[in-house]
Amino acid sequence: MLLATDLDGTFLGGKTSDKFKLYRLIREEQNIRLAFVTGRGMESVLPLLDDSIIPNPDFIICDVGATILNGRSLEPVQPIQSQIEKKWPGALVIRKKLRKIKGLELQKVPQQRRCSYYFDEYTDIGQIKELVSEFGCDVLQSAGRYLDILPGGVNKGSTLMQLIKMMDLDAQEVLVAGDTLNDLSMYKTGYKGVVVGDAEEALIRATKDIPTVYHAQKPGPGGILESLKHFSAFTQWYRQQETMELYPHSGATQMVMLYHRLPYEVREINGRTEHAPPKSPNGIIPTLLGFFHTGRSGAWIAWEETQGNKRVLLKDRYIDEKKYPNLIASRISLTKRDVDIFYRNFSKEAFWPILFSFIDKARFNHTHWEHYCKINRLFAEKAAAEADLHAIVWIHEYNLWMVPAYLRPLRPDVKIGFFHHTSFPPADIFNIIPWRREIMGSLLQCDYVGFHIPRYVENFVDAARSHTPVKIISQENCAGRYLTYSCALGVDLMSTEIETASGKVRLGANPVGINIPYIKEIYHQPAMQDAIRQMAQQTGGRKIILSVERLDYVKGPLEKLRAFGLFLHDYPEFHGRVELINICTPPAQGMRIYERIQTELEQEVGKINGKYSDLNWTPIRFFFRSVPFEEVIIYYALADICWITPLRDGLNLVAKEYVAVQGQKENPNGTLIVSEFAGVSVELPYAILTNPYYARDLKESLLQALNMDNNDRVLRMKRLYEIISHYDVEKWSRDFMEILEGL
Ligand code: UDP
Repeated sequence: MLLATDLDGTFLGGKTSDKFKLYRLIREEQNIRLAFVTGRGMESVLPLLDDSIIPNPDFIICDVGATILNGRSLEPVQPIQSQIEKKWPGALVIRKKLRKIKGLELQKVPQQRRCSYYFDEYTDIGQIKELVSEFGCDVLQSAGRYLDILPGGVNKGSTLMQLIKMMDLDAQEVLVAGDTLNDLSMYKTGYKGVVVGDAEEALIRATKDIPTVYHAQKPGPGGILESLKHFSAFTQWYRQQETMELYPHSGATQMVMLYHRLPYEVREINGRTEHAPPKSPNGIIPTLLGFFHTGRSGAWIAWEETQGNKRVLLKDRYIDEKKYPNLIASRISLTKRDVDIFYRNFSKEAFWPILFSFIDKARFNHTHWEHYCKINRLFAEKAAAEADLHAIVWIHEYNLWMVPAYLRPLRPDVKIGFFHHTSFPPADIFNIIPWRREIMGSLLQCDYVGFHIPRYVENFVDAARSHTPVKIISQENCAGRYLTYSCALGVDLMSTEIETASGKVRLGANPVGINIPYIKEIYHQPAMQDAIRQMAQQTGGRKIILSVERLDYVKGPLEKLRAFGLFLHDYPEFHGRVELINICTPPAQGMRIYERIQTELEQEVGKINGKYSDLNWTPIRFFFRSVPFEEVIIYYALADICWITPLRDGLNLVAKEYVAVQGQKENPNGTLIVSEFAGVSVELPYAILTNPYYARDLKESLLQALNMDNNDRVLRMKRLYEIISHYDVEKWSRDFMEILEGL
């Protein structure tokens, strides 16, 4: 068959999931030929041609029928093209003739052998027709505002008919598709036709009595698929498409994910660059990808750093067509300078310190803020372009705080969810941000704003209240799941819906969970068990204290080392009997904010080891590198104590991972010490809580853990494991999906 289809509103319109189905069918089925029949000029069709998702057309009829090209060679199809050319008096002649017509404005788009204008209610169409008839030209109107002057007798339908005759194609095997009045000529050819859903009223009226035309319900490719089912000549293709669907029943709402990183790894294989989803299912990206496992359609919008000093156009691409058949990566090109300002410097210097209440470290630069807004606008525009009607747009992190503000006016129909992966500070700290009003105004445009824990929700409500009157619509008691009065980040009641002048916003706490089956699987592998046994022999019976963290002042690494120094000073009986394994992962290159702290850490480690080491014992083993997750698991299994002492932390997954691994042991006798200022502390009532701002408390927490009775230790760890295996990542995903779907 030959599918001759209009582009905008037809082949490129409608729901993403329908597009994928139709495109996949055409790409993979040799017996379906494709012709784009569009009002666009050739230059605006070109970007579609090497798109890996949109199938390549065999023919391109553009300029509303005035240009016809071979889709592969891009050569004009002769003699059709030269015959059209002969009928065209030239754009300058037409423009001159129509120069004085009221309300007529030339469209500033590439065009050949036609003149395309906008018109309004004052435009005298009769006069235009009369003026151009002198040159034998036709006038075509569509959508109540577009007007084309075309060579006489030339339109989409006439050029298509000539092509079909010339190619000697069977007229019974042609299907035309369109959605506006300038497609009408295609339906007058006598070929079978589909007017897709949401088409221009005037086209529906004009075609309602044409027996070969089917009026579809669904817009865009969905309507075309519907017509394949309707016309018996094409039903086989409809069935074929159904068999190609990997998840035929997934009608879930489309989800547009906005995250700063792309969800795949770029690997060099035999000199070729390959893209693959992350190998390890650990971490937030695999969790977020999990939302698309069932065939849900979606777009993952992220930036990609591109060479040179200009942003370029990056095409959409599949992430893994087999695994996520309806998910594309939709990339925003950013130059190195963009990324430096927006991500590496501004976000880290202005927002990161504020989020974690390190106010003296915050640096504000207005030009950088403007740049940040510009990049956020790019994300919003991309989301507006990718989202289906009523889609869910899920925005992540403070890097994209301003996206809701730009997106809402562009797409009032979409549901906007926002999740903070960090902490959220108290109002009087948040308000230090000079652009706090803009940011708060933006967040209040969301339908749902999520945080790790109830304390951050309440901080957000307080911050909102300091900007505008806030009515609390509903609240939830926190005591069922979280610590309330007994720790620094506890709170008894959490607001779950508020109302401001901008409307209602739902709020919630969604602490991310751990992928327990994955940890179970690696822990129980024989090689892993061997590695744990071997390493255990090397500890020489010493108690292992483990610390795993990214290098960041927020994690309080220096405070921890100093407290350990104090511990060794105050309790010499533990010399030779304890060992601190400190894994500190360096930040991404170019983050200048972290350079000083690295030097300070190295000096402190040197000082303590220099003071206390002997031939048989080094108190601190400091690993300044990233350790593969499998290896971290060995340390989790071995460690008698996991000492997690951030000054602030959004949540802290290391604490949960330690529990997850300990929970696999027959005798889970590890002890978890957690800072009261890590979000996770309110979820883990059986951990030893410590105040990292007070060296004495840090030091005493170690002593308490070392002296804890074995039964107590095992009991606490078992309870902790129950909690984290109930609230695992699977539950987090389910809960979140329920929230987003229910908005
Ligand atoms: N991690 C790792 N190798 C390392 C250090 C850390 O794989 O050398 C992992 C760790 O297992 C955890 C994550 O990095 O999954 C850190 O998450 P967390 O929430 O504790 O800290 P964040 O860096 O997000 O603040």
